[in-house]
Amino acid sequence: MKHVYRLPEFRAELTQLRLQEKRIALVPTMGALHEGHLSLLDVARAHADAVAVTIFVNPTQFGPNEDFSRYPRTLEQDAALLKKAGADVLFSPDVADMYPDGFATSVHVEGVSEGLCGAFRPGHFDGVATVVSKLLLRALPDVAVFGEKDFQQLAVIRRMALDLDIPVRIVGAPTCREEDGLAMSSRNRYLTDSERRIAPRLYALLNQVAAAITGGADVVSTLTAARQQLLDEGFDKLDYLELCDAANLQPIQTFEGNARLLAAVWLGTTRLIDNISVGG
Ligand code: AMP
Repeated sequence: MKHVYRLPEFRAELTQLRLQEKRIALVPTMGALHEGHLSLLDVARAHADAVAVTIFVNPTQFGPNEDFSRYPRTLEQDAALLKKAGADVLFSPDVADMYPDGFATSVHVEGVSEGLCGAFRPGHFDGVATVVSKLLLRALPDVAVFGEKDFQQLAVIRRMALDLDIPVRIVGAPTCREEDGLAMSSRNRYLTDSERRIAPRLYALLNQVAAAITGGADVVSTLTAARQQLLDEGFDKLDYLELCDAANLQPIQTFEGNARLLAAVWLGTTRLIDNISVGG
């Protein structure tokens, strides 16, 4: 595995791979890698001959009071994991490489980026869309793989790549979970032992709500009861629990198939997100 830090070296490595007629898959991450990230490499490999992974903790997608400075950074361990997992190239630029002095462009995606996390994290998806555009244009991969764990992010990226005519196939990959159902996340390491015991109840509740709704229960009253249940079960705060159209992420009040149930909750200072398909 080649580990490179600057754009010219990254482009040179990918050019070499292309000269060997290899199809390239890109897997963008913020590092602090776990099995969920590594599962994206398997998906990437199924769609391409070579896999390039990026690690960049992108400052522009964090709000002023969010966890940018404490976000876990474990580059050496990550590089070892990626090497073992068979990545071909690791690109870990610094902030000055990605956003040199004078950088002045932001990519804003209307519609899908506005509700859910977009409503609670102003500017977050502009940061995501901007950095992912840059990474896609830097690598010009054949495919790029993103997790359904961040379902709204995946929808924003699909829209952005389509609208900007970026010639890449965006592939979504299923969410990897701990044995008790908790979606794997770099942020899970923030959880205290008692918070960690509460955390898997989110996935359990999503499943309970999905079963009720597919079984014909009223959407609005089921969601209202479930929001209260999350608080009763020990979550400290709820940003949202919504049933949305899986294609455009607009909230829906009547279930007619192909929906997504999405939630963001807080345990202490840690924000957890998760989502599942409902009748998809
Ligand atoms: P992050 O490092 O959190 O920015 O995530 C990098 C990529 O990994 C994104 O496409 C995420 O959606 C994906 N990802 C994060 N957690 C998981 C998970 N538990 N299962 C599958 N993919 C994940």
